[in-house]
Amino acid sequence: MNDQDQSKLVPAMFGAYVFNDAVMRERLSRNVYKALQATIREGKPLDASLADILASAMKDWATERGATHYCHWFQPMTGVTAEKHDSFISPTPDGAVIMEFSGRELSQGEPDASSFPSGGLRATFEARGYTAWDSTSPVFIKKDGENTTLFIPSFFCSYHGHALDKKTPLLRSMDALNTQALRVLRGLGHTATRKVMATLGAEQEYFLIDRCFMDGRTDLLFTGRTLFGAPAPKGQEMEDHYFGSLHERVASFMNEVNQQLWLLGVTAKTQHNEVAPGQYEIAPIFEVLNVGVDHNQLVMETLQKVARRHDFVCLLHEKPFAGVNGSGKHNNWSIATDDGINLLAPGDTPHDNLQFLVFLFAVVRAVDRYADLLRAAVAHAGNDHRLGANEAPPAIVSVFLGEQLTDIFEQIQRGGVKSSKGKATLQLGVSTLPPLPKDSTDRNRTSPFAFTGNKFEFRMPGSAQSLSGPNFVLNTIVAESLREIADELEAPSAEVLTRRIEKLLHAYAREHHRVIFNGDGYTAAWKKEAARRGLPNLASTVEALAQMMAPKNVELFVRHGVFSEAEYHARYEILVENYAKTIMIEAKTAVYMVHRQILPAVVAAAGEQARTVSALQAFGTPTAASELLTALLDGSNALGAGLEQLEAAMARARAAEEAVARAKVCQEDVLPAMLRLRQTADALEARLGSSQWPLPTYAEMLFQR
Ligand code: ADP
Ligand code: MG
Repeated sequence: MNDQDQSKLVPAMFGAYVFNDAVMRERLSRNVYKALQATIREGKPLDASLADILASAMKDWATERGATHYCHWFQPMTGVTAEKHDSFISPTPDGAVIMEFSGRELSQGEPDASSFPSGGLRATFEARGYTAWDSTSPVFIKKDGENTTLFIPSFFCSYHGHALDKKTPLLRSMDALNTQALRVLRGLGHTATRKVMATLGAEQEYFLIDRCFMDGRTDLLFTGRTLFGAPAPKGQEMEDHYFGSLHERVASFMNEVNQQLWLLGVTAKTQHNEVAPGQYEIAPIFEVLNVGVDHNQLVMETLQKVARRHDFVCLLHEKPFAGVNGSGKHNNWSIATDDGINLLAPGDTPHDNLQFLVFLFAVVRAVDRYADLLRAAVAHAGNDHRLGANEAPPAIVSVFLGEQLTDIFEQIQRGGVKSSKGKATLQLGVSTLPPLPKDSTDRNRTSPFAFTGNKFEFRMPGSAQSLSGPNFVLNTIVAESLREIADELEAPSAEVLTRRIEKLLHAYAREHHRVIFNGDGYTAAWKKEAARRGLPNLASTVEALAQMMAPKNVELFVRHGVFSEAEYHARYEILVENYAKTIMIEAKTAVYMVHRQILPAVVAAAGEQARTVSALQAFGTPTAASELLTALLDGSNALGAGLEQLEAAMARARAAEEAVARAKVCQEDVLPAMLRLRQTADALEARLGSSQWPLPTYAEMLFQR
């Protein structure tokens, strides 16, 4: 029983592993603290003597908490984090050691970069890469087993200064957004704001299965998803798992996840059962975007580590199980100012809140013009099983504004806005219940990009992906709209400001109303309607990634200093290659499993069945037994044929010389061959005795706790 009073424990635990503001105030002299704050605020380089003092304070703090090592923690193009640990030890002449940490070691690292994806930016022999401390994201300690290390969130670049990571473009895009948003605010006469920041609240979905099932599932081990598996007799049709009461083992797991995250300063807030059996969600409270992205990496890592301690395995893949919902990561995004304004908060009468409308329209315009980029930002092999595949959300990018804002949008489109539909109240007809205030809009679960009160919720990112990509795209495309608006506001004009803004909004409403859609995004009718409106429907990763290199998209990133052309092209190469590699690993795993597990089991079962049929013949005609034997024989032959087809498709993919062509063969040949092989295997699974089938089943994995 845990009846300890948590009112003091949780606040004491929160951020205990973080070298945060309170620690800095306590451990640094006033001057050092102030200089550091200025550096962080203004993004200036830290001077060397200051860095030494700071490093030494960090080392003392970390070693007191058990740390022996430090590491630069960075985010290479693999999509996961990387860390190389160095101990604090430094030898003394008398053969002993002392614990030391210099400003130089804090500020910069030089890992061998040759084995990280670079998309051709760096030849393998030019191995040198640099990591540099991102002082806007807090340093923390992390305990893995018996090992405690000081983690320094870092950028990662090549010897020639090209970004090789996911953090650098994200920070650059935040700068771009800040620059353009400030211009717009000044243009609107708002002078108090000194900095504009994007904010992020990331909802993370995941599955848990009992760890004992992992042993037999080579597919989960190597690909993160099941490549075989007949459906369980029950799926999610009863809708009884969503928000259901927590299983005790799961609740205990969540409890430890929360504690670990609180120690790391992650504001773990919401937890619940998700739609599919075995599926769950965790969400923190929103924070400054780049810290939110770093924290989401910690959330994913913590879920996986803690799961093992509770004899679970946490699956972060977008589609671990066919036939039930996959997992996404809702990206709640807004723009806030340092003087405390949420620029996407409508207030009670949004129609006369010009500042809000300007920022709202900037986002709508950005999403319409760069829908292809947003789609590409969430394109990878795992997410292809979700987007456009009859579950949330569709592959067509549209914006949900809800009733109140759509009404205002349409008034502006018609040429003048006069009113906001007010808030209603809910009458439940229960006499003890007072009327409840009702939100001005309902929710829409199918929209890929929904306005949800005071933020946009981008619902397309995959559960396993880094949120850096979707957000540097979002920041940059909105910065571009704001740049145009600022140009307009700064241009000399005889007209009064409000009139000019109204004209601009009117033009935007006319141009972009096609991207507004409040209806059901799953229907075939919407696909047709979207095509009529000219909205792109990029159904697959291969199609979506191809759009990245459209000249307007390359220009966008170069203009805002988010990527050089070379860096951007490298990213594209990495993503295309990553798709092909993922599918090929899946295909090899499928072949491996059929050869080593499934085919031997089916053949053995057929042999046993043949002996059974012979034995039974002495007693009459064994019709059912013979029919089963025939099914097993036919099935094993079909497996053999399926293997041959898959291997031929894989050979064609290997023969493709260039990455895009290989990715295409993977999509058009390899994936369908894999699916056919799966169908054959799944049909056999349904016929085999439970002791004869070599793989843990969907029924076991999804339902046994
Ligand atoms: P839902 O009903 O969409 O599942 P949740 O409460 O699970 O809602 O998640 C909503 C997320 O949006 C939370 O992480 C929350 O902190 C975040 N959020 C709220 N306001 C903002 C904002 N201004 N900017 C970014 N994220 C926000
Ligand atoms: Mg949500």
